[in-house]
Amino acid sequence: MRFLIAEDELKLASLLRRGLVEEGHSVDLARTGEEAFSSASAVAYDAVVLDLMLPGIDGIEVCRRLRAVGIWAPVLMLTARDAVEDRVAGLDAGADDYLPKPFAFDELLARLRALVRRGAPERPVVLEAGELRLDPATRRAWRGDSELVLSTKEFSLLETFMRYPGHALSRQQLVDHAWDDAFEHRSNVVDVYVRYLREKVDRPFGRRSLETVRGVGYRLRMDDV
Ligand code: CA
Repeated sequence: MRFLIAEDELKLASLLRRGLVEEGHSVDLARTGEEAFSSASAVAYDAVVLDLMLPGIDGIEVCRRLRAVGIWAPVLMLTARDAVEDRVAGLDAGADDYLPKPFAFDELLARLRALVRRGAPERPVVLEAGELRLDPATRRAWRGDSELVLSTKEFSLLETFMRYPGHALSRQQLVDHAWDDAFEHRSNVVDVYVRYLREKVDRPFGRRSLETVRGVGYRLRMDDV
């Protein structure tokens, strides 16, 4: 395996490198955010260990830029122990896992192994289907350049459709993904909300993306016409 370690604390970086090399891996080091980005863009690493606090652009921004240019190497973010918001920001930027400092080397190894097993399939942070885009982290959605103003429930429903583009989803599947257990069991609740959603996502644009699948439920069409 070949890993990149982006860490400006040189003692920690060389400790990690030595440990990984002893395990038979190859390790490159980066000391700044810019170095991390350019190395990870140039080499297909099996995983990247990315310190959040780096000189220059920080780990979150490095991760966001890598994902934006289509680099999906698994990222393990190193964060401060109590900084919940850092972990959230890291995961939202496309990191796959995080490890609070200080950590045991064995745990780092175990997490890297788990990440390497998953490989580097595309894991877009922002969902896209045709002209539709949806960002679960900021809870914003667009058709083309137009931002869609959606209620919480409409947003959840659209997110569900966008996670399964082209799939016919039953009313029950839509309820399971977009509603919590506390929802009032009105039998037509999905139909009502699909109608709301069409009024915002389709009709103003002269589109029919959300189609009824007779006997099943609904589907987000992929050809987006
Ligand atoms: Ca640091």
